[in-house]
Amino acid sequence: MDKLDYLQRVESSARTYANSFRKMFVRAQGVRVYDAEGKAYLDCLANAGTLGLGHNHPEVKEAVLQYLDSQQLQQALDLATPAKLEFVETLIAQLPMGMRESSKIQFCGPTGSDAVEAALKLARHHTGRLSIMAFHGAYHGMTAGSLAAMGNLHAKRAPGMATSGVHFLPYPYRYRCPFGSDGSSTDTLSINYIDNVLSDPESGIAKPAAIIVEAVQGEGGCIPASVEWLRALRALTHKHDVPLIVDEVQTGLGRTGKMFAIDHAGIIPDAMVLSKMLGGGYPLAVVVYNRELDTWKSGMHAGTFRGNQIGMVAGSSAIRVIERDNIPYRVEKQGALFVDGLKRIASRHASIGDVRGRGLMIGVEITAPGTEARPGAPDGTLARAIKLACFENGLIVETGGRDGAVLRFLPPLIISETEIGEALELFERAVASAERAMR
Ligand code: PMP
Repeated sequence: MDKLDYLQRVESSARTYANSFRKMFVRAQGVRVYDAEGKAYLDCLANAGTLGLGHNHPEVKEAVLQYLDSQQLQQALDLATPAKLEFVETLIAQLPMGMRESSKIQFCGPTGSDAVEAALKLARHHTGRLSIMAFHGAYHGMTAGSLAAMGNLHAKRAPGMATSGVHFLPYPYRYRCPFGSDGSSTDTLSINYIDNVLSDPESGIAKPAAIIVEAVQGEGGCIPASVEWLRALRALTHKHDVPLIVDEVQTGLGRTGKMFAIDHAGIIPDAMVLSKMLGGGYPLAVVVYNRELDTWKSGMHAGTFRGNQIGMVAGSSAIRVIERDNIPYRVEKQGALFVDGLKRIASRHASIGDVRGRGLMIGVEITAPGTEARPGAPDGTLARAIKLACFENGLIVETGGRDGAVLRFLPPLIISETEIGEALELFERAVASAERAMR
């Protein structure tokens, strides 16, 4: 039996990426991965946005190899080690000024989901309140508490899944305004609505333990919230005494063109969740939060693999490179170039309804024909066909968003102008061939 068929037969039906990208991948460097037949792919998925410095970055790899070769502890629960000390100092130095002195760090089981769990638990413990507010389109993870805060219902489709205790609020998705406006008043309507829910003694919704938000929704379809909206959300959470948790799992460490996505708006949340790029490509996750919230007690968020030293060593090395090479600034420039190119492609292809993003977190929404007043319906079938055609052409992109209709570009932050040009060319060819085949 073919090796890929074998894996498909024995692996869970819930597997994901391997269903679309059906190859054996054997090698990777920088922005490229190679399959067993030697074919190269431009990787605009980068392990779901984890590999900010690309595959096998020489400095990060060297730091890991040196550490492996030392006699230092390779796993250490949450014990003190030199690797942890260096990591904590390196991370704190990158936090926005307003968080450096006042923050505490909770090391979590090494996934974004577990760090979200920790942040929600912390807020519930501190406030003594039960419910959480999250947003339509939100993605915070697959463990029970984080899943409950997810907008997409697909992964919640099993009896007994914890879906209660979370109230969902309208995210400022201007292209498909949840209030039916043309997008120009989405931000104000969303903020007024949230303010009203929290103020109205008869809103039917109790004051929550926290509001959790992504500054740019990732899996929900790459939807950036405006800086004005983020500032207004911060102001109203202060006004109503509701802790604000910003989930920077996908946006943190340079992805959006600033070290953190909150830096665009200059807001300071009560808690910030980090993972993905944090460990320089190795599993690591933390919650950084205001020390005033630190009322929980020892052991209230334990976990065996919170001391992943390799993640800390690789993370320290990666963060140093991101700062030294001024990667966020580069990301802003490269992101603008990428978006411009995609907008040019959109002007030639009617199936592309919207191109949006922040930095190198970019989404292209595929739609059925719309009217002047309204965008067409999300076309997930065509988006999937484009994704598969991209893969055929040697470009890896993932889909997300409503009905899976948004093609999401999350390349390594070190992607060059030439590679962006190549990605655009491969993408347009894929759009053209998928359109021809499907319409
Ligand atoms: N929050 C956000 C914003 C994410 O994008 C993700 C993962 N895509 C998570 C949380 C969950 O992280 P993990 O998959 O590591 O559990």
